[in-house]
Amino acid sequence: MTFVFNLGFPRIGRRRELKKATEGYWKGAVSEKGLREAAREIRRANWIFQKDAGLDSIPCNDFSFYDHVLDAVALLGAVPPRYGWKGGTVDLDTYFAMARGAQREGLDVTAMEMTKWFDTNYHYIVPEFYQNQEFRLSSEKPFEEFEEAKAVVGGRARPVLVGPLSFVLLGKAKDEGVSPLRDVLPKVLDVYKEALGRLSAAGAEWVQFDEPCLVQDRSSEELEALKRTYQALAEAKGGVKILVATYFGHVGDAYDALAVLPVDGVAFDLVRGRRNLDFLREKGFPREKTFVAGVVDGRNVWLNDLEASLGLLQDARKHGVAGERLAVAPSCSLLHVPVDADQESALDAELRSWLAFAKQKVREAVALARALDGRRDEAFFDANRKALESRRTSKRTRNPQVRERVEKILASSPGRSTPAGERFKIQRERLPLPSFPTTTIGSFPQTQEVRKARLRFRKKEMSETDYKAFLKEKTRDVVELQEEIGLDVLVHGEFERNDMVEYFGELLDGFAFTQYGWVQSYGSRCVKPPVIFGDVARPRPMTTEWIGYAQSLTKKPLKGMLTGPVTILTWSFVRDDQPRSETCAQIAVALRDEVLDLESEGIRIVQIDEPTLREGMPLRKEERPEYLDWAVRSFLISSSGVRDETQIHTHMCYCEFGDIMESISALDADVLYIENSRSDQELLDVFKKFRYDKGVGPGVYDIHSPRVPGVEEMEENLRASAKVLDPGHLWVNPDCGLKTRGFEETTPTLKNMVAAAKRMRA
Ligand code: GLN
Ligand code: ZN
Repeated sequence: MTFVFNLGFPRIGRRRELKKATEGYWKGAVSEKGLREAAREIRRANWIFQKDAGLDSIPCNDFSFYDHVLDAVALLGAVPPRYGWKGGTVDLDTYFAMARGAQREGLDVTAMEMTKWFDTNYHYIVPEFYQNQEFRLSSEKPFEEFEEAKAVVGGRARPVLVGPLSFVLLGKAKDEGVSPLRDVLPKVLDVYKEALGRLSAAGAEWVQFDEPCLVQDRSSEELEALKRTYQALAEAKGGVKILVATYFGHVGDAYDALAVLPVDGVAFDLVRGRRNLDFLREKGFPREKTFVAGVVDGRNVWLNDLEASLGLLQDARKHGVAGERLAVAPSCSLLHVPVDADQESALDAELRSWLAFAKQKVREAVALARALDGRRDEAFFDANRKALESRRTSKRTRNPQVRERVEKILASSPGRSTPAGERFKIQRERLPLPSFPTTTIGSFPQTQEVRKARLRFRKKEMSETDYKAFLKEKTRDVVELQEEIGLDVLVHGEFERNDMVEYFGELLDGFAFTQYGWVQSYGSRCVKPPVIFGDVARPRPMTTEWIGYAQSLTKKPLKGMLTGPVTILTWSFVRDDQPRSETCAQIAVALRDEVLDLESEGIRIVQIDEPTLREGMPLRKEERPEYLDWAVRSFLISSSGVRDETQIHTHMCYCEFGDIMESISALDADVLYIENSRSDQELLDVFKKFRYDKGVGPGVYDIHSPRVPGVEEMEENLRASAKVLDPGHLWVNPDCGLKTRGFEETTPTLKNMVAAAKRMRA
C-alpha cells in the first residue's frame, strides 16, 4: 500500500481566524485563554479535514502562533538575553516580544531580525547565537500538540520540527568568533535528542525534521555536519521513525549523504526539484527507507496534472521504491498556499476548476496514492482531466496578439541604443536639476483617512466620482507639500494604490483575484497574491490619469511610478503552463506601453521599481545566471522604448546586491535608488569594487523608523557616499517609500534632507 503524507497545513484558518485572535490578544481584547482556544479550533479543523481526506500521516506542531523557526528558538531556549527571560518554559509574552519587540514596564526591546524563508514570501525570525550560549528544552508545544493531535487523529499524528542543521544554518552569530556549525550545532543537538526521546516515548510513529537548507549549495563541511546530526538523533530515537523533509528544489550533492543517513525516510520535492528523480534513477535509494515523493505543488495554486504525477510515481516505483516505501505528498508544507479554493465563489466556475489550494492538494495526493495501488477514483480523475483540458484549450489563457508582440520585441534584443554617458548629457540639458538632486521613492504616508476612503469605495459606500476627487485632493496636497519642502523631483504620492502589485494586476488582463486566497507572510500578516492565469495585456493606460494630473500642478519634473515586471511576477501566483520568463516578458511589454504613454503625456522621468530582483533569485547558484538574464531583459523591455532624454529610474529595497552588481548595472537605468541605511559600509564597499557609471541614490535615512534624523547626520551620510561615488551622479532620497510613515515625522525629515543636500551643494 502506498502511503500519503502531508508535510504541513496552513495555520491561519480558513478565514484568517488566527490573525483576528492574535491581533486581538496584542491589543488586549482577547485573553491568552481565548487566543489558545482559537488556535486549538484551527488545529482541530485541520486535523479532522486531513483525517477524513484519508491521509496516513498527518503533521502536528506545524501550527505556530507566529513562526515555526521562532518556535524552535523557544523549544531550544535560545531566547536572546535582551528579553530578560528567566528560564523555565518560554511564556507567550516573551515569545511575542522576540517576534515584535516590546515596550512595557522594565522592558524596551526591539524585535529579532526577520528575513525571507528561502525563495518564498514567508518571513522567519532569525535565531541569534552568542558566546557560551546555553540551550535547554524550554517549550512544551511539540509534546502538547502531539497529544492534542493524537486525540483527534490517533496514531497518524506526526510531529514536525525545524531540523537542527537548517536551524543552525538559518541563524546568525552575534558574537565574534562564534561558529554556528562548530559551537552551536552540538549543543542544540542535545536538546533535539531530548525532544525526540520524549516524542518517541509518547508514542509517535514518525517525527519529521525539516531540512530545506539541503536544496541550497552546501559545502562538504556542512554535509559532514548533516551526517553527524542524524547519527546523533538516531541514537536517541527509540522506537520512532525519522523523516527528513527537503523541499523547494533538488538536493544536489546532499543526495548521497541523505541516502546513507540513519533515518527512516526522506521527502523530496519532485515539482521544483525534478532532478531528484534523476538521482533516484541513477543512484537508487536504499531498500529500508521511505521515499516521500512530493508531486503535488505546494508553492502554487494550480490543479495537479494527475496523469503526469502518476507517471512520475510509477517511474519512482520502477526504480526501486515501492509498496510501503513509496509515499505520496505535496512538494513542501502547504503553508505557502491558501486554504480552500471551494470558498472562491466570486470566481467563475471555469477558472475555479483550474485551482487547487491546500485542501484540494491533500485530496490530490490521496487520489494519486490510491490510483497507484489500483484503486483509482475514476470520477476524481475524470474531473481533473476535464478541468485540465479546459485550461489547456481555453481562449482566456492565450492572446495571439500579445504573443506576437512579445516575440517581436524579444527578437529585437531590447535595450537603449544610446549609452548611459551620452544620455546623461542629453538629459542634463532637458532636466535642469541642481547637483545632489532631492526626491523620494514614490509613496507618501497612507493615512487612516486614505485607507478609510478606499475601504468605503470598495464597499460601495463612496461613489467613484467622490473617491477620485478625494484622491486628487490628496495628490494636490502632497505636490504642494513637496514644493514647500523644496524637493527637486516630485512624485504624486501613490494614494490610489493599495498595494504596488495588486494595483497593476487589477488593471491588467490575465490576472484574477481571490476573495479568501490569503497566505501567511509573517506573524499575523497575510497577503493575497494575484493569480496570473492568462496572457498579460494592458487594455488601457493605468497611471497616466494620476501622474499627468500631478504634473499639471507643478513646473518641477514629476516622476511616473511603476512596479517592475519581475516584482509583479514574484508577488503573484504565476501560471505554470509556460516558463516564468515568458510571463515576465508579457508583463514587461504591458509596462513598456505604460512608460511610453507617460512619456507622451510630458513625463520626463519614469521610475520602475524592482524591489524583488534579488529575492526572486533561484536558490542554487548555477541557476542564477539564466534568471538574471531574463529578469534584466524584462526590465529592458519595459524601459527601453523611450527617447534618450527621458530618464529611467529604478529602486531596490533591502537587498544584498554586492554579488549582482553586474546585472543591476545591466538594467541600464539612469538612476538607481538603493536601500542603504542599515549598512552604509557594506554599500560603500560594493561601490569601491564596482565602478558604477550612472546615477545613484543611496538612501540617506531609514524609513522603517519614526525617528527624525538631523541635517548633520544626513550630510555625513552624503559625504561618505560622495567619497566613493561620483558626486556628479549622486541623488538624495530616503531609502524606501514613505507609505507606512506618518506626515508628523516625514515632513521635518524631508526638510532636513533638503537642507543637507543644500549644504553639499555649497
Ligand atoms: N514606489 C514604491 C513606494 O514608494 C516602492 C516601494 C518598494 O520599494 N517596496 O512605495
Ligand atoms: Zn523599497
